[in-house]
Amino acid sequence: MSVLFVSDLHLAPDNPGPLQSFIDLLHGRARAADRLFILGDLFELWIGDDYVDPAFEPLLDALQDCTRSGTPVLFMHGNRDFLIGEHFLQRSGCSRLDDPTLVELYGRRVLLMHGDLLCTDDVDYQRLRRQLRDPAWQQAVLQKPVAERLALARRARAASDRATRDKPQAIMDVNPDAVTAALRDSGADLLIHGHTHRPATHRLQVDGRAVQRIVLGDWYQAGSLLALDADGTETIPLP
Ligand code: MN
Repeated sequence: MSVLFVSDLHLAPDNPGPLQSFIDLLHGRARAADRLFILGDLFELWIGDDYVDPAFEPLLDALQDCTRSGTPVLFMHGNRDFLIGEHFLQRSGCSRLDDPTLVELYGRRVLLMHGDLLCTDDVDYQRLRRQLRDPAWQQAVLQKPVAERLALARRARAASDRATRDKPQAIMDVNPDAVTAALRDSGADLLIHGHTHRPATHRLQVDGRAVQRIVLGDWYQAGSLLALDADGTETIPLP
């Protein structure tokens, strides 16, 4: 048995490839897993549980089938789908996971994050993140009509693309001190996160302890899956 991790699928109705690939995973390999963790940005965009694109209905069914078959699916918010709420969780059968969450898996202490909290050099983004995660702000946005929310989301995306283009690459990566602090505070020996779209396995020392940071890949070009079992970790490419 193993535990599976994915993040940054960025599923969108106009990109059926990754959507189908993930549905296949939910009907296949995930059934034989102990648990499936989705570490944020499952969707490219989510403007509220009251608006679900019909293209996502088979995905919601597949998530529910997977959890009913006995594989718990745990969902952590990313910076694209932070408006996923209770209705989505009930419909899909997923359980909500805080960011960060420390879990013990096969005798290892594993810290799970989306990854954006580690990008502390991007001060503008961290300020924006606090606003987007503010329950009062979210409540106000969710009151707005769907068309208005869609327009708002498109404008926010365009603004984010402009900001991202003008920022140095290093600012948008994780800050090493933030990584060290997260591993030190949690006592974890393995950190798994996504968000930066820079898949890699980093080995580092924290207070003399050998620890690992595994960055999950995005699904824009091809799927990417991390499996963890008693023997260690394995990155599995998907079609
Ligand atoms: Mn992200």
